[in-house]
Amino acid sequence: MRKQIAAANWKMNLTLQQGEALLDGILGKVSAPGSNQQVIFAVPFPYLASAQQKIAGKQQVFIAAQNCYNKKAGAYTGETSVEMLQSLGIQWVVLGHSERREYFGESDQFLAEKVNIVLETGLQPIFCCGEPLQIREQNTQNDYVGAQLKASLYHLSAEQVQKVVIAYEPIWAIGTGKTATSAQAQEMHAFIRAELAKQYGAEVANNISILYGGSVKAANAQEIFGQPDVDGGLVGGASLVVDEFVAIIEALK
Ligand code: PEP
Repeated sequence: MRKQIAAANWKMNLTLQQGEALLDGILGKVSAPGSNQQVIFAVPFPYLASAQQKIAGKQQVFIAAQNCYNKKAGAYTGETSVEMLQSLGIQWVVLGHSERREYFGESDQFLAEKVNIVLETGLQPIFCCGEPLQIREQNTQNDYVGAQLKASLYHLSAEQVQKVVIAYEPIWAIGTGKTATSAQAQEMHAFIRAELAKQYGAEVANNISILYGGSVKAANAQEIFGQPDVDGGLVGGASLVVDEFVAIIEALK
């Protein structure tokens, strides 16, 4: 059965001390996730080791990197390999966030290579996809997202693709306060699952968690997560506030 997941994306926010206080605050307040639930904190690279220590021994709680490089090792100054992440005990990597695609020019092909190296090293990707506003206005979002999935994931085997968590994040809803309606989220998630089923069969598609991202907050989490094909959320702004993120975790099915 697929997991229900609340994933925090801190982006490039917080000092180490603020991050530690946030993590302590959330972990101190939230009830232990159920066996079918997971909580993931995608923190900035310099905080990975300390965050990993803080969650030691907590069931169903994980730390993620927000990115990685597509090469194993070598002369790539400033980059971080998946093996380095693994040596810290990190099990998850966020890939293809729209901010990386837009500001750092990350292409579908580059992301496919990153997906490969993450899986080959034994970690799991949270693979982000989602359309910009003009695509939504033209009502071609299914083609757009379908193409993103095809280009970066469909070379994977059925066994590999089940290790991927997909985060659907309409770009027009990220950090804008403008959330997709729960019906819009469900519609896209059902489309993604149907596409996965076409490619890999219904059983595989039903095992893949599909998270919604885009201005999720305590006030809307329950309604969005309550949709049948929405398996939790990838949360930016609201994950930086203890009570907001605790409520979001507690809204998981
Ligand atoms: C995100 O960072 O992936 C995100 C969805 O941000 P926000 O929740 O702030 O819209």
